[in-house]
Amino acid sequence: MSYMAKPTPEAEIDPKVRNCLACLRPFTSAWAGERICHKCKSSSSWRSGSAPH
Ligand SMILES: [Zn+2]
Repeated sequence: MSYMAKPTPEAEIDPKVRNCLACLRPFTSAWAGERICHKCKSSSSWRSGSAPH
């Protein structure tokens, strides 16, 4: 961590390994709101009627 001591407005940005909501497999999520792995995002099978407008 060589970052300067400054506030982080991007609180949502929290890269870590999360479980995909679609295939339930762990994947590297780039931020807190990313819950679907890239593989499932590519396929549209995870969008079961809850697609954001
Ligand atoms: Zn997935």
